[in-house]
Amino acid sequence: MAKRKHQPLDPELEASLPRVDVDDLIASVKYYVDEDFAHLWIKDRAVCQQCQAKPCLAFCPVGVYRLDRQGQVMVGYQACVECGSCRVGCPFLNIGWALPRGGYGVAYKFG
Ligand code: SF4
Ligand code: SF4
Repeated sequence: MAKRKHQPLDPELEASLPRVDVDDLIASVKYYVDEDFAHLWIKDRAVCQQCQAKPCLAFCPVGVYRLDRQGQVMVGYQACVECGSCRVGCPFLNIGWALPRGGYGVAYKFG
């Protein structure tokens, strides 16, 4: 599978974005965990083994993607705050992503 190139964000656009304190935001959320349906998944584990940089370990704001003792990527979908970063952040588009089922997922206190 072809690897995509990432472009740096235009500084003018970056300066126009609102300041967000992710820690404050995360502390205010409530989760309704669906134990029967994982809305995030790895499409092909062989692709992860070839992925040297493993940016998923860094770009998720709540650390959903972690390595187990064997070096396999684990997906702790229960902690997902549905920011959408992993839909575009995996250079191989190897992360399956769906919205949680109705009534489940994250609830933001301030909208
Ligand atoms: S960035 Fe994508 S391909 Fe690389 S380890 Fe993470 S999920 Fe796998
Ligand atoms: S949608 Fe955002 S919070 Fe959820 S797993 Fe992907 S990067 Fe993490």
